[in-house]
Amino acid sequence: MRERSTPLAVPDPNRFDRNLAIAQSSKSVSIPRCFAELAPMDVTPILESLNDAQRQAVTAAAGPTLVIAGAGSGKTRVLVHRAAWLIDVEGVSPQSVLAVTFTNKAAAEMRGRIESLLKIPVNHLWIGTFHGLAHRLLRRHWREAGLPQNFQIIDSDDQLRLIKRLLKNLEIDETRWVPREIQYFINGEKDEGRRPKHLDDEGDPHRRQMIALYAAYEEVCDRGGLVDFAELLLRAHELWRDNPELLAHYQRRFTHLLVDEFQDTNSIQYAWLRLLAGKHGIPFVVGDDDQSIYRWRGARVEHIHRFQKDFPGTTVVKLEQNYRSTGTILNAANAVIENNSSRLGKKLWTDGADGEPIRIYAAYNERDEADFIIGRLRDWIDQGNLRADAAVLYRSNAQSRALEEGLINAGIPYRVYGGLRFFERAEIKDALAYLRLIANRDDDSSFERVVNKPTRGIGARTADMMRSYARANSCSLWRAAGAIASDELNGRAANAVHAFINLIETLARDTDSLDLPEKIDHVIHASGLIEFFKKEKGEKGETRIENLLELVSAGRSFEPDPAEEMSPLDEFLSHAALEAGEGQADEWDDCVQLMTMHSAKGLEFPLVFMSGMEDGLFPHQRSVSDPNGLEEERRLCYVGITRAMQTLYITYAEQRRLHGMDNYSQPSRFINEIPDEHIEEVRPRVQVSRPVRASGARSTSIRQGSEAGVRLGQRVHHQKFGDGVILNCEGQGAHARVEVNFETAGTKWLVLSYANLDLM
Ligand code: ATP
Ligand code: MG
Repeated sequence: MRERSTPLAVPDPNRFDRNLAIAQSSKSVSIPRCFAELAPMDVTPILESLNDAQRQAVTAAAGPTLVIAGAGSGKTRVLVHRAAWLIDVEGVSPQSVLAVTFTNKAAAEMRGRIESLLKIPVNHLWIGTFHGLAHRLLRRHWREAGLPQNFQIIDSDDQLRLIKRLLKNLEIDETRWVPREIQYFINGEKDEGRRPKHLDDEGDPHRRQMIALYAAYEEVCDRGGLVDFAELLLRAHELWRDNPELLAHYQRRFTHLLVDEFQDTNSIQYAWLRLLAGKHGIPFVVGDDDQSIYRWRGARVEHIHRFQKDFPGTTVVKLEQNYRSTGTILNAANAVIENNSSRLGKKLWTDGADGEPIRIYAAYNERDEADFIIGRLRDWIDQGNLRADAAVLYRSNAQSRALEEGLINAGIPYRVYGGLRFFERAEIKDALAYLRLIANRDDDSSFERVVNKPTRGIGARTADMMRSYARANSCSLWRAAGAIASDELNGRAANAVHAFINLIETLARDTDSLDLPEKIDHVIHASGLIEFFKKEKGEKGETRIENLLELVSAGRSFEPDPAEEMSPLDEFLSHAALEAGEGQADEWDDCVQLMTMHSAKGLEFPLVFMSGMEDGLFPHQRSVSDPNGLEEERRLCYVGITRAMQTLYITYAEQRRLHGMDNYSQPSRFINEIPDEHIEEVRPRVQVSRPVRASGARSTSIRQGSEAGVRLGQRVHHQKFGDGVILNCEGQGAHARVEVNFETAGTKWLVLSYANLDLM
């Protein structure tokens, strides 16, 4: 979402605002306490409801400050109060404060919380993600940054497509030079601040080729005015580095730099911050080394140590009291993270109650797991709780499908947070591609995307001709299309290309004076996209059309920032690329929150499910054999556990179909790291279950109504097949089956209710 000013009612600044709008819009919910009720006006309200250590941080003298503390200890809260303190008590102008958060949503929440502490809007305060702030700078100073005014942001999907196209153009074999690896290489180098010219092939031909591809990729981006996510940061850094006067201007302006989730800054972000701080800027950063979970994306937890060297005289504040979770949840989290060796080491405590045990459920498969979770969610909702206070976390995005299916069947509204992103859906990207072409004809990715969508007779051959023309003449595909349609193509193909060129020109002309939503509406119809998806059978096509129409609504609710010097369309397109996933239609409805463990960072929920807790899934297969990878997974597990305030469920499935394959897994090793005393196993009614805590070999018991349990490895006797040992079991109730290895008859699957097995 864009940054907005505070909603009408004054929110309670102490309540994490995820549900703020929900609480205010939902009739079934009491309005959060007003700040005035919390803080008598005769004391400085900003220091109210902070503990001593937090106060020390908030009021720290004007020098570099590092707050290093565990989950839920109030780091984000300290940051908010620090901003308010600076403005209200120290008399610092809001203009001089720059605050960096990890998501755009967090930025909007932070602004709201600062405003409610100060009781005035703080429009001039810059709050955003590193990417968002870099983007803002580049828009303002596009000329100095060496960019065209209408440069477009491409997301990682576009980036990958662009790399594939590049390989095709260069006639390089995709199976040898894997596009994803090239993408990873390029982004990795950019994250470290390196351009191709800085790279040395070290005599390694593979590396030489990678560097050449990076250079070729850069050329394509420069020609089309395309900026990927890593480029935003790198350019913004170079912008300041190479323009000392500009840098000096911003250094004078931003005297106070506040950074949340500091443990996950990457090298270029840190370098950017150091440039801005210069000699006199005052950085105030908060973070938790135990929650560093983006190493794979270039984050460097080492910055916590470097900070103290780079900023001599840093005041270090530690917070140890946790206000979020019950004693049980906290102890479980502490016990898990203790298994990591590379830690600064700190212990969180709470003076709250122990609360409920953590409940663990061993599901038969992913559907059973979803059923279980949905059953608990129903109970939760029936007890009058907010749906939005419940979150289901999973390790990988694909896991959401089974959960989503179950939720849809159960009629429980849900939202996939940061997952199935609205702006990343194919049909939305199609519509955006048309809009981008209207804004910038030289945008090659957009051109490629829609030149033949809906199909208009521009075949692969014509497309190839355009590409080679563009390559040979170093021009955009748009120009190439115009040129070859006039000179090289025969009647039919030439007509098709002319028709496309005319379409775009007409769209541009016809929408020129329209407002943003009308513009979008006109484009999705006149481009033929709506017609095209109407032909797509069944629900899919319908959903796509709904999504396209939703894009018009997105345009309607989009509020251009008057301070930005670009057209509303350009701004909207940047917004779409930057803030994908955060503008979903149902954002403010009261619905259950589904998200990956990664996207849950910084959030908190009264009820949390950690699902799919199986070895191979979490910890992820590729990290199991790498100690550093495993430690990062464990930190992620720590993040997951510490999202829970009151109630935590952990579930895993013995069998899971994921990406079309069946997997049989052991419970996650992280479950075993939680001490027994914090755990309660949930016993299924009638079914196969495997006691989680059993150590050593898999031991499974079969329960059928009141029948005695049958365990894996148990010896049994069958009338016909004789004696054997139970090897495996699956299914529930009347369908429960066991696999028995009979001494003479071999291995057989038997339906338990018919087999009449005698236990021996
Ligand atoms: P994370 O590491 O997960 O980002 P954090 O350290 O940023 O957590 P916050 O989100 O700021 O922690 O705070 C956690 C919860 O504890 C919030 O609900 C916050 O309002 C509450 N809280 C923090 N400090 C206090 C306090 N002194 N009194 C009451 N509640 C507090
Ligand atoms: Mg936080």
